[in-house]
Amino acid sequence: MSTKRDYYEVLGVEKSATSDEIRKAYRALARKFHPDVNPGDHEAEDKFKEINEAQEILQDPQKRAAYDRYGHDGPQGGFGDGMGGASPFGDLFDMFFGGGGGGGGGRGSNRDGHDLRFDIQITLEEAFAGVDKAIKLTRQETCGTCRGSGAKSGSSPTRCPSCNGAGQVKHVQSTILGSFATVVPCTRCRGEGVVVLQPCDACSGNGRVRAEKERNIRIPPGVDTGTSIRLTGEGDAGTRGGQQGDLYIVINVAEHEHFKRQGNDLYIELDVPFTTMALGATIKVPTLAGDEKLNIPAGTATGTSFRLRSKGMPDVNGRRPAGDQYVIASVDVPTQLSDEQKRVLREFALLSGGAAAEQAGDQDKGFIGKVMDAFR
Ligand code: ZN
Repeated sequence: MSTKRDYYEVLGVEKSATSDEIRKAYRALARKFHPDVNPGDHEAEDKFKEINEAQEILQDPQKRAAYDRYGHDGPQGGFGDGMGGASPFGDLFDMFFGGGGGGGGGRGSNRDGHDLRFDIQITLEEAFAGVDKAIKLTRQETCGTCRGSGAKSGSSPTRCPSCNGAGQVKHVQSTILGSFATVVPCTRCRGEGVVVLQPCDACSGNGRVRAEKERNIRIPPGVDTGTSIRLTGEGDAGTRGGQQGDLYIVINVAEHEHFKRQGNDLYIELDVPFTTMALGATIKVPTLAGDEKLNIPAGTATGTSFRLRSKGMPDVNGRRPAGDQYVIASVDVPTQLSDEQKRVLREFALLSGGAAAEQAGDQDKGFIGKVMDAFR
């Protein structure tokens, strides 16, 4: 562009035009000359660059003032170039869908991608310590062949002829009370304002393809069944520049063979030999962090619970102390005894008055009496 036309002339507006008038004039021209609407037309492309340049200057109060005073030599800066290089796709859609219309304008008919849910099962040990898991999920990704436009390479989506790119059509209904206009989404382009006449082979014109994605998930310590981890922007890709959805990893902690969980507390039922219960001893108790010592006092009744402080699950947010572990001591009655062991126990039962108690009925049997029942 060796000789530059006057920017006001380019946009066809008065020198006194308001910012609103300039924007309207620009959008009307840009729609007409956008390269995506005029594929291969170099004149249209130059025109498009020209109107963009004019718009950029005239919409900036400072640049406009400088231009008014000094002409083309006034505003400095590297605008203008680069307009043709980058894909003007976003611009096209902004224009069609009214982006920038006073600042609050939405993006129109581009659609955000769906949120996805991925269920993952882990063990209690993994929930306790935290774990990294590799997952494989299927999601919608922006088509790499057409970069999401849905159009075959070399072609572009074109303005929808039914709605002229507006994405919506006006229906006028005449009644005796007058005419009523209703605006409905265009059925041809489904409100998108553009139609793909030559669809991309890879995505059949959808602009998205289903793809398998592998990802590593870091699961923090303390999670429980139902805990969900949100990964922003890892869901389905949107269409036509819509936002990518989120991915929710929903945790399921498998039942443990020995530990029961309640909140962050753990419960374990431990079989303790009846001699230990009777005489007392220090025993080893499994916890998720390794074995712990527990002192069983002499004469412990079956069902007694002992608390191991802070040996339960960690708090997933790290804000509270870890839960506790409860050990429920349950007497382990032997099912097989040698003759010698039986003889000693019978002797013991006699010494404790167990033999007399046997005749008095079940509820009066002592501890040893019940033990004797178990292997008689
Ligand atoms: Zn494609």
